[in-house]
Amino acid sequence: MSVDSIKTVAVLGAGTMGNGIAHVFARSGYPVLLRDVDQKVLDRALGTISKNLEREVAKNKLTAADRSAALDRIQPVTDSKALAAADFVVEAVPEQRDLKIRILKDVDSVIGPGAILASNTSSISITELAAHTSRPDRFIGMHFMNPVPMMALVEVINGAATSDATFAATMTLCEKLGKTAVSVNDFPGFVANRVLMPLINEAAFAVMEGVAAPEAVDAVMKLGMNHPMGPLQLADFIGLDVCVEILDVLLRGFGDPKYRACPLLRKYVAAGWLGRKSGRGFYTYS
Ligand code: NAD
Repeated sequence: MSVDSIKTVAVLGAGTMGNGIAHVFARSGYPVLLRDVDQKVLDRALGTISKNLEREVAKNKLTAADRSAALDRIQPVTDSKALAAADFVVEAVPEQRDLKIRILKDVDSVIGPGAILASNTSSISITELAAHTSRPDRFIGMHFMNPVPMMALVEVINGAATSDATFAATMTLCEKLGKTAVSVNDFPGFVANRVLMPLINEAAFAVMEGVAAPEAVDAVMKLGMNHPMGPLQLADFIGLDVCVEILDVLLRGFGDPKYRACPLLRKYVAAGWLGRKSGRGFYTYS
């Protein structure tokens, strides 16, 4: 399928990533079928998208009329049968392998034979997810960053069987969304998490070993390396549970002990100190 044949997009999952992905597609003129399991989640997602688009209007980046048009392009659906019209599907359901496989198989059986399936997974093998569908050549990784409307990068991940045509269409589609696509091959953690997670992990080791307090570690990286956010502040934002899960994926995938999660990270997760979302991680949040 060429990028010009992509007329309707479907987004599976209307959570943190799914609502951002639906936002950028709708803002770029694509009709979007946004699917989640219940109407309440969809209502909340549409509320978030509306608020985020409003913010762009306030900054004069979007007219009020374009905001309404973008919102009108999003059709919330709960039934997967409603996805039949989609030419391009982005899956953004929770990071659980079996759940993703089940949902991908289901949508694979509903959409047309030419349609492309993309997964926003952070760490699950694209090659493996693709192999569970009838279209491994039309399957690709499209790893958006959080918050999607603000972040320029999309990691585009080629599975072992992804075709050149699927890759080319996805790269051009990213451009149409105003994003910068970076091409990556399918290995554990791709590039983003493979490079970021050891940094976060090392920062946690530095705290655990008493080298410095979290504020000091973050200050060194912000002021010394010009990072906009310290690694521990970023870990709290991502979720410490998510960081541990991704480190475990890297450890399993490479069998290299350099990816073992810092015991302090595991201890915080065990305590329920997951970062921003639970009110406490390396920092406390009110
Ligand atoms: P989330 O939990 O916020 O959202 C997932 C949504 O999927 C929920 O609304 C849930 O109701 C819905 N869902 C569950 N089962 C479903 C089904 N059968 N059909 C349709 N929807 C269903 O998760 P998230 O943070 O948006 O993450 C989604 C994906 O994006 C994961 O693979 C994650 O690894 C990846 N990702 C997350 C981030 C991040 O910073 N949050 C960044 C990059 C990639």
